[in-house]
Amino acid sequence: MPTRPKLAAGNWKMNGTAAALSEVAQLLAAHPEPGCQVLICPPATLVHRMAVAAEGSDMLIGGQDCHGAVSGAHTGDVSAAMLADAGASHVITGHSERRADHGETDADVRTKSEAAHAAGLIAIICIGETLAQRETGETLTVCGGQLDGSVPEAATAANTVVAYEPIWAIGTGKVPTLEQIAEVHDDLRARLVARFGDEGEAMRLLYGGSVKPANASEIFAVSNVDGALVGGASLKAADFGGIIAALADA
Ligand code: PEP
Repeated sequence: MPTRPKLAAGNWKMNGTAAALSEVAQLLAAHPEPGCQVLICPPATLVHRMAVAAEGSDMLIGGQDCHGAVSGAHTGDVSAAMLADAGASHVITGHSERRADHGETDADVRTKSEAAHAAGLIAIICIGETLAQRETGETLTVCGGQLDGSVPEAATAANTVVAYEPIWAIGTGKVPTLEQIAEVHDDLRARLVARFGDEGEAMRLLYGGSVKPANASEIFAVSNVDGALVGGASLKAADFGGIIAALADA
């Protein structure tokens, strides 16, 4: 069985100006050798400055979204190549907030992920069910459908990470039971292996949704959880540091 490098990824969402770079400095000082991969995805305005701040360390920097096209008349959008040029190595695609706020479909997410790959970025492709879908027993069907529709045909373990983020757990403090997380992650793993073979076995699966230092260790002990995508708790070095430490120990 391949060893999958553990990844703690922070999604700062629409938070942070230059003053917030001090959190990165604190994180680097407290975890110079974190024991797992650490990625922060700040707003696009901070990608370059954060990449400069992280120079000489192992910290990775990513974007939160990219356009599916290389360039063109798309006011306000950022291309994958622009993120790479600014110092990003990763980009989140298909976050549920983008799917909800901007009507992004699985096909859009697949196109964006292909654009990320073409620019040499690792795509962190997000999927997850609503509370209503969970309550009607549709979780595996919904997540499986999103996985099939959003992950490009040419995805590999080197260019793709999948994040399972139940929408009802994002920013709410509600977390699925460990059994529920295991059920989804095991199902996603089986689907990835059926589609991509060994690459599917080696692809990282992150859990996301109200991960905190207090619950991180138990979540990281769940089968097929290779790390976390963290929103709110990634904004403060002390909280994200606690999650990184838990992942390093997992
Ligand atoms: C997210 O936005 O990807 C997320 C998981 O947020 P939070 O950790 O705040 O629930």
